[in-house]
Amino acid sequence: MTQHTQETQALRIVIIGAGMAGILSGIKLREAGYNNFIVYEKGDALGGTWRENTYPGLACDVPAHLYTYSFEPNPDWSHVYAPGPEIRAYFENVAKKYGIVDSVRFGEEISSCEFIDGRWQIRMKSGKTDQADVIIAASGVLHHPNIPDIPGLASFRGACFHSAAWDHSVPLDGKRVGVIGTGSTAIQITTALVDRVAKFKLFQRTAQWVLKLPNQEYDANERAAFAKDPKKIEALREELDQFFGTFSAAVIDAESPQMKQIEADCLANLEETVKDPVLREKLRPNYRAACKRLIMSPNFYEAIQHPNAELVTTGIDAVEPTGIRTKDGILHELDVLVLATGFRADRFIRPAVVHGRGGVDLDKVWEDHPVAYLSISVPDFPNFFMLNGPNGPVGNFSLIRIAELQLHYILQLLEKLHTGECREISADHKAAIEFEKARTEAAKKSIWATGCKSWYLDKHGVPASWPWSTTRFDQEMAAPKFEAYEAVS
Ligand code: NAP
Repeated sequence: MTQHTQETQALRIVIIGAGMAGILSGIKLREAGYNNFIVYEKGDALGGTWRENTYPGLACDVPAHLYTYSFEPNPDWSHVYAPGPEIRAYFENVAKKYGIVDSVRFGEEISSCEFIDGRWQIRMKSGKTDQADVIIAASGVLHHPNIPDIPGLASFRGACFHSAAWDHSVPLDGKRVGVIGTGSTAIQITTALVDRVAKFKLFQRTAQWVLKLPNQEYDANERAAFAKDPKKIEALREELDQFFGTFSAAVIDAESPQMKQIEADCLANLEETVKDPVLREKLRPNYRAACKRLIMSPNFYEAIQHPNAELVTTGIDAVEPTGIRTKDGILHELDVLVLATGFRADRFIRPAVVHGRGGVDLDKVWEDHPVAYLSISVPDFPNFFMLNGPNGPVGNFSLIRIAELQLHYILQLLEKLHTGECREISADHKAAIEFEKARTEAAKKSIWATGCKSWYLDKHGVPASWPWSTTRFDQEMAAPKFEAYEAVS
């Protein structure tokens, strides 16, 4: 990427969000010579999802050495799968090291972005305003909690909160704790809490496929070896990349032998680990493995067999002041109720209002489902680029790797602006429509479309994800096809 001179630094860039992708944007923009940027962050600290999620058991099920910026390896990861607080500290340290923190304005939530007379006019909830030539939306995928519509929820007299808004003032030890949901979050909470609480009830609507992935600790010698020789980390990343490459290839082809192997491994985990045949049947999924996001856990099946634990599979009728009443009439009395009920994955930058050229409303464009050319750019929204935007490879690779590739691509679009080749650039209508048509067709062959319900699906049941290989994604991100863009001089 070209390093720019002083006069090229005038391009004013606003980054939305100071999570993994926002920090990355700041680092890479500065590296490319774009110093005139600012990051608006609605929270009071860095880290995005790793700031918001603080639930017990929080970890990342992507191996830590892969869930790392490629340019900033970390020899100090404590485990193969790092705990959440360590990941948050990593992002904070990287942001400090690269001098990004001073460019972040905390507590500033964007309420609107309007493209007027060739510039973005930005308004914050605080009333503050700003202007930008370019917006990079790094606002994350899963950050709007899904609060279930269960009758009586508000009547519960104990503590009740969503997993992404954990109330740490609420005591758990010796309490009766109920968790609704069996996604990756609920499974991590289960393994962390079963032996701390008096009674743990997991309310399962749908059984999950669980792949057993042991989580070894890196001892001091291994960490010292990584620090001494960064090539060791590089070699490990390559090895892990290969493993995840297999997974990525499997999910886009439901009938692939790799997919069958993953299913067989999960089934073996269930058969070998769960002793009680009744419990085993309750935990047996009736859809294809990895149709929902695969659960990767070293010990979920062990945890749910703990004497304190109970798996409740009868449907929830209502929440009452003292607990959950299931459809069989049983009242499950609880002190604490956790809603591990996931997120509204189709929100992206919204509820911020975004109006593009000629007042085009993003909400209207996305009325049916969110779309974007290569998940980065929307026609009529010039100089507005998204990281981990709609229909990207959320279900198959590390989001950090995706964001790095996308940013590399976006920098090439910025090049056109700063050289003055054009003043406005956004995906061309025809290219965006053709891309979405091809993507939708391919998505129907993926594992996510094999008949389960998940946050990967849009309201028509079509997977909202990148349906092709990692190689194809790498190739697309290597260089923009400028003929797919509308450039206004
Ligand atoms: P999720 O996967 O969307 O799971 C939500 C759970 O809540 C599901 O089991 C769902 O049941 C249940 N649910 C929702 N509404 C309900 C209702 N009204 N009644 C009963 N049950 C209800 O959410 P998540 O576990 O928070 O995970 C979201 C995503 O975050 C994951 O897929 C993953 O991408 C990411 N994540 C990653 C990690 C990691 O280690 N990398 C950890 C946590 C989360 P149904 O299945 O029946 O719909």
